[in-house]
Amino acid sequence: MTASRSTLSRASIVERLTSLLDAGDVITDAQALREASVDRFKKYSAVHGIFDGPAPVAIVRPRSTDQVARVLELAQDHLVNVVPRTGGTATEGGLETVVEDTIVLDGSAMDAILDINAVDMMATAQCGVPLRVLEDALRAQGLTTGHSPQSGPIAQMGGLVATRSIGQLSTLYGGIEDMVVGLEAVFPGGVVTRIKNVPRRAAGPDVRHVVIGSEGALCFITEVTVKVFRYQPENNHYFGFLLDDFGAAVDALRELVTDGYRPSVCRAYSVEDARAHFAHFAQDKNVVVLVAEGPAPLADATAGAIEAAFARRPHERVAPHLVEEWFTQLNWGQDRIDAEKRTMLEQSRLGYTTEVSIDWSRVGELFDAVMSRVRSQFPRAEDLTMLGAHSSHSYQTGTNLYFVYDYRISCEPRAEIVEYHLPLNAIIVEESLRLGGSMVHHHGIGKYRTPWVHEEHGTAYHLLQGLKRAFDPAGIMNAGTIYPLDELPPPRAAVDAAHAAEPRGGPTHRRGSEAGT
Ligand SMILES: Cc1cc2nc3c(=O)[nH]c(=O)nc-3n(C[C@H](O)[C@H](O)[C@H](O)COP(=O)(O)OP(=O)(O)OC[C@H]3O[C@@H](n4cnc5c(N)ncnc54)[C@H](O)[C@@H]3O)c2cc1C
Repeated sequence: MTASRSTLSRASIVERLTSLLDAGDVITDAQALREASVDRFKKYSAVHGIFDGPAPVAIVRPRSTDQVARVLELAQDHLVNVVPRTGGTATEGGLETVVEDTIVLDGSAMDAILDINAVDMMATAQCGVPLRVLEDALRAQGLTTGHSPQSGPIAQMGGLVATRSIGQLSTLYGGIEDMVVGLEAVFPGGVVTRIKNVPRRAAGPDVRHVVIGSEGALCFITEVTVKVFRYQPENNHYFGFLLDDFGAAVDALRELVTDGYRPSVCRAYSVEDARAHFAHFAQDKNVVVLVAEGPAPLADATAGAIEAAFARRPHERVAPHLVEEWFTQLNWGQDRIDAEKRTMLEQSRLGYTTEVSIDWSRVGELFDAVMSRVRSQFPRAEDLTMLGAHSSHSYQTGTNLYFVYDYRISCEPRAEIVEYHLPLNAIIVEESLRLGGSMVHHHGIGKYRTPWVHEEHGTAYHLLQGLKRAFDPAGIMNAGTIYPLDELPPPRAAVDAAHAAEPRGGPTHRRGSEAGT
């Protein structure tokens, strides 16, 4: 926990917020504040009603870009920490309010779909539109975003962009960074910035990437424009294969992708992970699932390449309808999250994940290194009920490994994170970094992986640090996320830096709703 740097009392912060937004949009209910202090839906202590972190001072629900700008102006002027939030499905501590007197800036009331353009193939939505809602509206017009994270029913557009999220169809459609055309965001001090929608440009570095993946640590995203594609599920081919060797399963994905094929779903599960996911057909084998989709001739050609790739590898076949059925129940709604919480409480057990990425040539080495180090060095290895991994997002140069672990909890609820999740997470992160991979493939750094942010970026860290200094000089945005807490500027330096950073020149707007569409 970090002491408040705010120059206002808690009561004054609430009073000022109430003058900027409707009173009903400034929430100070004690239980709501406690619950807003954590994000991990699997936070074992929170499931037991334990909230040790500092509760935020208020949750505010702006209705417009202008209101967001006013809140961020107040926050910078008085050094109040702000944690942006939309769908609340973060998994890496990004929503945890580790600084006293934090404002949780919740964009979920900004929930309008602003435009669907079937000629220029773009859709524009406010930050609080759940992906599922946008996707339903698009499908009604024969279109799709192609974005399909498992949290799609709950996660909202602002958070999906802020975390550099990725969906199950990524090998065909890419991650969110491939989908965002333009956006609007508000920076500390209330500076509204719009990045226009163009197909491509060579007008300097791609400034979208200052915002995409910034995890609320630089700005608040208010509006997003994404590409859309034709929705044609009638052309889909579903495939499932059982293989004896995980390396061979991953190698089949490598061959397909590097040969230029783009199955939308492209996954290989280790025996342990497959047993948990596909109990009814895995038969203690490694499982590969693939979907060929797109215009019929392309989908057929991809299906042909899949057939050819597996004709050369010993395997058993899974009936396509079993793969299709599995795929339709993959996503998580609130009911499933609530059921998981009940199970955690009743059975004192938890399942968790850490996702990393690595070049093709080192996938096997990383998998073996993590499996053997967890078994030999994790002090509570006897409590593990499952440890496995799958590759679920593939690229020309490599893939991700999504490690999955389940454990019985034999300590008091408060200690779970220190005794189990953090040490397991550390082993996976350290092994990936040691082998030249990335410590995080798609969940974001949050607060749980900041200890390794310097190692992750190496000599490129000064670029990341420069963004923070330039765009959040007072350090009011989501302190402790991406950037370690001990790099926060002291209060006096923060005030001076904020004044020095007042925007000059160029068509940026301080509290400028005229920045509009
Ligand atoms: C069951 C489950 C399945 C998941 N499956 C996937 C998956 O398949 N793929 C994947 O990529 N992730 C997945 N996740 C992780 C999570 O859903 C994603 O990170 C998602 O993008 C978060 O969106 P959200 O709207 O819930 O954001 P939140 O949880 O509200 O916030 C996430 C982060 O973004 C910041 N943020 C939120 N809104 C804004 C904003 N408007 N402006 C600036 N910063 C903001 C927050 O401060 C926080 O750091 C899953 C999570 C769960 C619980």
